Amino acid sequence: MKTKEVLADLKSRFPNEPEYHQAVEEVLTSIEDVYNQHPEFERVNLIERLCMPDRVFMFRVSWVDDKGRVRNNMAYRVQHNNAIGPYKGGIRFHSSVNLSILKFLAFEQTFKNSLTTLAMGGAKGGSDFSPKGKSDMEIMRFCQAYIAELWRHIGADTDVPAGDIGVGAREVGYMYGYYKKMAREFTGTFTGKGLTFGGSLIRPEATGYGNCYFLLNMLATRGIDIRGKRVAISGSGNVANFTAQKIIELGAKVVSMSDSQGCIIAPDGLTKEQFDYIFELKTYWRGRLSEVTDKFPELEYHAGQRPWKLVKCDIAMPSATQNELDGDDADALLAGGCIAVSEGANMPSTPEAVHKFVGARILYAPGKAANAGGVATSGLEMAQNSQKLSWSAAEVDSKLRDIMKAIHEQCVEYGRQDDGYINYVRGANVAGFMKVAEAMMAQGVL
Ligand code: NDP
Repeated sequence: MKTKEVLADLKSRFPNEPEYHQAVEEVLTSIEDVYNQHPEFERVNLIERLCMPDRVFMFRVSWVDDKGRVRNNMAYRVQHNNAIGPYKGGIRFHSSVNLSILKFLAFEQTFKNSLTTLAMGGAKGGSDFSPKGKSDMEIMRFCQAYIAELWRHIGADTDVPAGDIGVGAREVGYMYGYYKKMAREFTGTFTGKGLTFGGSLIRPEATGYGNCYFLLNMLATRGIDIRGKRVAISGSGNVANFTAQKIIELGAKVVSMSDSQGCIIAPDGLTKEQFDYIFELKTYWRGRLSEVTDKFPELEYHAGQRPWKLVKCDIAMPSATQNELDGDDADALLAGGCIAVSEGANMPSTPEAVHKFVGARILYAPGKAANAGGVATSGLEMAQNSQKLSWSAAEVDSKLRDIMKAIHEQCVEYGRQDDGYINYVRGANVAGFMKVAEAMMAQGVL
């Protein structure tokens, strides 16, 4: 396998899908030498089968808004690979959603799910529908129309969706409710469900908490204590909020948070009161970060900016969206003394930024390892649903810690270089790839 040739072929067959090409290039570059040590992989053209999704559902969703107008959105579900378990991955509702973004996310999800040690394949879905500014009833009607089309293709042992950007407990509730009505069954077909109908304790917290646990494992390899460290976080949604909550609990300082319109800088770290206000504002009131300085004028708000160049930090945890941290941002972080980057979002750092972090030999964890705690806890939700049992928060949290430790160990095993540096990108990609590849080999050409 030659990465350049595989990539050139994919680009010519699937043009105009830059995010998908970017994700494939990153993985292939880091697994090329390991792949080439296995001529049996090449004999069955395994790499091409692994890069192309098993299938893609693409459909129009028509729904009626509060003024009685008919609105139309494009919607998708990408079932990428089910070699090691049922398809599993979130659903994103955001105006930017297109096939390229969902193909990249489903591809990444396959490796991430493999790393979790649980039996889950990779998938992703979504729509260019934006929940922003929509009424509750409009969101319900959209979710129902989306599931009216999708329900035939998902199921507890087939494909298990969850939340992602723009899809939280409310949207999962509406989608699961409609799925249940259409399928006439009560099974664990969605994760991220409400606690009264099969949801798992700690699932909302899991991606952010898991990222912090992964970070602690990374810092331990260099004997670094997190207490007192300055942590820049982007985003103020599910992942960012629970990351910030855990970071404060661990005795470190949150020096930034952001949303799609700007960022808050807290040079001395957010106080608990300030953080609690932001958490409630963004989670329950669906407010904007620009409102925060009305209540706390001592904080800085920078409209239209990302935090990376605005504040010095020891640790960066990008937790908003893809490609939100570029090469210039990486330069600024490194110049400011940043020692670790642990990604809550999927592919938030551009290839140039990743290259700089790895080149500078700092601790750098790609999203597919660092944010895998979310889907891992979804796997735990699926296990509880199958058994019709609920585990305590302490039990789930303890399993989450163990899983993040196991993911870290796999990254170290496959990513330690001759000079001792742990290349987490390589470690995560190779470890995730080998398990899926072995399962695909055993199952024949499908
Ligand atoms: P949410 O919708 O809860 O929050 C997303 C946050 O990112 C919001 O603050 C949003 O701002 C901001 N944001 C969204 N798009 C942009 C953009 N284009 N530019 C700048 N900011 C933006 O999503 P999640 O927290 O669930 O997801 C965040 C990231 O984490 C995504 O990459 C997702 O794929 C990844 N992830 C999520 C998991 C989960 O369990 N939820 C699991 C693993 C990964 P605003 O408030 O203005 O909309």
